[in-house]
Amino acid sequence: MKTLDTLPPLSRVIADHDLDARRSLGQNFLLDLNLTGKIARQAGDLTGADILEIGPGPGGLTRGLLAEGARRVLAVEKDRRCLPALKQIADACPGRLEVIEADALQLDPLAHLTPPVKVVANLPYNVGTELLVRWLTPRDWPPFWQSLTLMFQREVAERIVATPGSKAYGRLSLLAQWRSVPRIVLNLPPGAFSPPPKVSSAVVHLQALPAPRFPADHKVLERVVAMAFNQRRKMLRAALKGLCPDIGDRLRAAGIDPTQRAETVTLEQFCALARNVPG
Ligand code: SAM
Repeated sequence: MKTLDTLPPLSRVIADHDLDARRSLGQNFLLDLNLTGKIARQAGDLTGADILEIGPGPGGLTRGLLAEGARRVLAVEKDRRCLPALKQIADACPGRLEVIEADALQLDPLAHLTPPVKVVANLPYNVGTELLVRWLTPRDWPPFWQSLTLMFQREVAERIVATPGSKAYGRLSLLAQWRSVPRIVLNLPPGAFSPPPKVSSAVVHLQALPAPRFPADHKVLERVVAMAFNQRRKMLRAALKGLCPDIGDRLRAAGIDPTQRAETVTLEQFCALARNVPG
């Protein structure tokens, strides 16, 4: 029986299973197992954790996660063509890899996971951003995951870690930084993928905080931030006037000058404002 070390190279796996990359599924594969091992290591110690991997494709990152000692990997893949290649990996690591054929946007994976859980994925960018927002905005905190280690387009990664005053600062920065500590841990050029995408990529690691950084109701905070950045060039008293008639007073009570623009307001100030406006 094959072991992880004796599985064929990923380029062979792709050829053997006719896994020509489909643009509609955002398929840009990682073929270098040194690189996938390095990405897996960004998630920290995997030995005591269940790993949720979304979009394993031919299994390069999956192999990295297993080789780095993951207790168990639950891999959710939408493209049925990848399943035989993933089965070879599962057979090489008995009991450590479960593969579910599903659209990650439709599946609730919780029933298949035992805590602690870490999420690791190289996903199409649109799916990745949508899942990230979902993972950051549950009603209750802490969430089901300890950390997220996710590949993004470099520009999206910069938005996640951006600070006030920068062009990249916005809704994604605030959602991420309110409840987690996000860091860019790796930069990857287009040539790291097959086929190469048009833009550079980066891996972002987000460590869940035990509690949000400042108190606020999550729905109110999300609404305030979305409204503020929907019209980011406007002064806040105008951008947020739909929230309540006396928004100027409420901004001042939160320590914000009503003529400020959203991109200059700190997370702490947004949380103070969320506590000061009607729910
Ligand atoms: N993880 C592999 C790697 O690093 O080589 C593949 C990465 S590729 C960028 C994205 C993978 O996500 C593809 O295998 C694609 O089929 C899968 N995928 C795309 N949309 C998905 C969805 N909604 N749910 C689950 N998997 C999805």
